[in-house]
Amino acid sequence: MKSDESPSPYLEQAQEYADALANIGEPVKDKDLVMLVIAGLRDEYHSLKGNIVARQFPPAFSELHALLADHDFLVRKAEPVPPTQVFSAVTNPTPPAPGLLGPSNDGLYTFCLPRIQDVPKVAFSTARVSSKTWHQRLGHPHHQLLNTMFSKYCLPISDKPCSFVCDTCLVGKSSKLYLPLSNYHSSHILDLVICDVWGPASVSSYDGHSYFLLCVDHYSKFMWFFPLKLKSYVFATFRQFITMVERQFKTKLISVQTDWGDEFSKLSPFFLERGIIH
Ligand SMILES: [Zn+2]
Repeated sequence: MKSDESPSPYLEQAQEYADALANIGEPVKDKDLVMLVIAGLRDEYHSLKGNIVARQFPPAFSELHALLADHDFLVRKAEPVPPTQVFSAVTNPTPPAPGLLGPSNDGLYTFCLPRIQDVPKVAFSTARVSSKTWHQRLGHPHHQLLNTMFSKYCLPISDKPCSFVCDTCLVGKSSKLYLPLSNYHSSHILDLVICDVWGPASVSSYDGHSYFLLCVDHYSKFMWFFPLKLKSYVFATFRQFITMVERQFKTKLISVQTDWGDEFSKLSPFFLERGIIH
């Protein structure tokens, strides 16, 4: 731990090392990680070190942040408070009477008064709660803001900061409702073919294709992929596709499902003529 390093970045770095070792198949046990972190603490954490080492069951790594934050707070609270100079203006410019002499500065006499103790804002709680609970209590702030509040105000948490996914935030920030589940069942090939067109691609293919038409048979899940140079080729390509599959499988296409994009809207008269449900 560096001389000016606060607990949060120190612990985060330790966690990163542990994750890196786990990724190469050499995971570090939680208690070993705790002991390594404790051993690397600065001298000012001497009392905390002794306390943790003397425990029968050392704390989990996830509890260290709160323990270090509590220790920091208690140390700051015990530091002597520097006096504050308060200036008082005198209306009478005549020298003070003997016995009331004191240091003056341009006609102002200074009084040394104890300053109101400047205690940092710290949240205390008898029970540590998860970072998700703090996220909910504080009105669902962003992870970055929540992390700042954890380190600045020493919020007591019982887990790794921001190691959760908030369903409420996900739903609140979604711009579309989820699609309802379909209970459609197909019993034969070509009962239903689902089609979509994708493009334009930012880089065209070697042959100059920028779009593709994808057709998926609902029954067999077989897919047909057609690269297209222009979106306007969808109509002709789809007609060729129907002719080909109906001949190959000796059955008629019953229905087609699309997203009703422009390219498929133009196919509506064709579907009506062939009796295909769209
Ligand atoms: Zn949330």
